[in-house]
Amino acid sequence: AKEDGKNTWRHFSMDLRNKIEGKVRTEQDLRFAIERNEFRLFYQARCNALTNEIVGAEALIRWQHPTRGLLGPGDFIPVCEETSLIHEVGLWVLEETARMQVELARAGYPITLSLNLSARQFTRSTFLSDILGLPHRIGCDPSKLELEITESLLLRDEVAVLELLTAAKNAGFGIAIDDFGTGYSNLAYIQRYPISSLKIDRSFVQDTENSGAVTRLVIALCKSIGIKSVAEGVETQQQLDWLRAHDCQEYQGFLFSKPVPADEFRQLLAGNKPA
Ligand code: C2E
Ligand code: CA
Ligand code: CA
Ligand code: CA
Repeated sequence: AKEDGKNTWRHFSMDLRNKIEGKVRTEQDLRFAIERNEFRLFYQARCNALTNEIVGAEALIRWQHPTRGLLGPGDFIPVCEETSLIHEVGLWVLEETARMQVELARAGYPITLSLNLSARQFTRSTFLSDILGLPHRIGCDPSKLELEITESLLLRDEVAVLELLTAAKNAGFGIAIDDFGTGYSNLAYIQRYPISSLKIDRSFVQDTENSGAVTRLVIALCKSIGIKSVAEGVETQQQLDWLRAHDCQEYQGFLFSKPVPADEFRQLLAGNKPA
């Protein structure tokens, strides 16, 4: 038993060491990832729930790592957030999404692209000017860009966040609350903050049996205050039928398309005819 204990400890400390070394390596690699052009944005279509027409897309980051292959945000965004790399990576996401918006509009697809922001990005003093300068720097249409933030951010530093979001909204940008229903769900801020869309978390969408009443209420609330209701994580036709029956405006999920590289997304757009 004594030997077992020792082995367990050794395994534990090796695991921990591997983890720490892995993280250090990830951090070192991340520092070069932008220069080496290793980040990619994948796009997941966002559709009108009634017609299935693609009305937008969410940009989701991936890292084409030279040796580890294609990595998802869970593999490196936390490391970015713990270091200050998130500012640089976040700026790249903003600009790359803006470039894609310009390109799609020129190709005849004036759809809305949304992108994810980390709370940590709001702490950088240049963040607001980075956002407000996008139309000038990139030539994008801010009304075709939507910034996705999570509920928890709104509870942090109310005044600073409210000011920043209001300035972005006044400049024409859309603002979406992401993963709605998983945080504190304080309905008060929905009217206080300049929100254009509410993205209902997939845990609600995929469990209408238990969450149907709440989802219905959220959809009705969106309607009454004039913001878009967007269902996330729609995987089955049944889920979509339910959302249609309850007047949800837009949806995204594997049922229509998983997130795909830019080229594939352009093909998806080209083949998309409203029903
Ligand atoms: P999120 O913003 O809630 O994005 C939706 C996630 O759900 C995506 O995972 C997407 O691939 C996945 N998803 C979409 N449809 C379905 C579905 O029908 N079923 C299921 N089970 N999943 C679905 P992904 O791409 O791995 O992103 C995970 C999270 O990483 C995102 O969650 C977001 O919080 C974060 N993230 C992604 N890109 C960025 C970025 O550029 N910057 C920052 N700060 N965070 C990002
Ligand atoms: Ca999101
Ligand atoms: Ca989400
Ligand atoms: Ca999420």
